[in-house]
Amino acid sequence: MNPVESLKAKVRDIPDFPKPGILFKDITPLVKDPASLRLAVHHLLHPFLGRDITAVAGMEARGFIFGALAAWELGVGFVPLRKPGKLPYNVQSVSYDLEYGSASLEAHIDAVGPGDKVLLIDDLLATGGTAQASCGLIESLGAEVVALGFVVELEALGGREKLAGYPVHSLLRF
Ligand code: 5GP
Repeated sequence: MNPVESLKAKVRDIPDFPKPGILFKDITPLVKDPASLRLAVHHLLHPFLGRDITAVAGMEARGFIFGALAAWELGVGFVPLRKPGKLPYNVQSVSYDLEYGSASLEAHIDAVGPGDKVLLIDDLLATGGTAQASCGLIESLGAEVVALGFVVELEALGGREKLAGYPVHSLLRF
């Protein structure tokens, strides 16, 4: 088995979390294992090395883990996209629909701006709602989203279609 595919064994299925009927992909075993974490970040970033990227943005909360490591590896800064009420300075917000209800993400108004070329990183792509909203948030600040990277992609949920027009790279497809 190729080493990247072997990382799938480090993603644990948790039935009925956070709600009955949902099969949650738990990435904490992958993050805990030093060799797996290094391999995952290395391959996640492979397509983006040498690209003109000025910042990495990551979605709360698991996007912070991989996003911050990605920023470190690329030698750029990290921008947290946070749940409402968490950021201390003036914010730009974006709301998006969930299966039941809605959610919001916020960024500081000066987090990125015109001329910035942003790589968006999250742990997992499901329906694509979070990632699509994050693209809108970054663009509303005048920056460009150059690509998106995910450690896990749940292909049956069609998130990639929602992100048509953006380069999307995922490592482990289920
Ligand atoms: P989407 O908006 O694409 O439907 O959901 C993706 C967002 O929800 C990501 O921020 C991701 O962290 C979280 N998420 C949804 N389902 C799962 C899952 O099964 N496992 C993990 N680790 N995160 C999930």
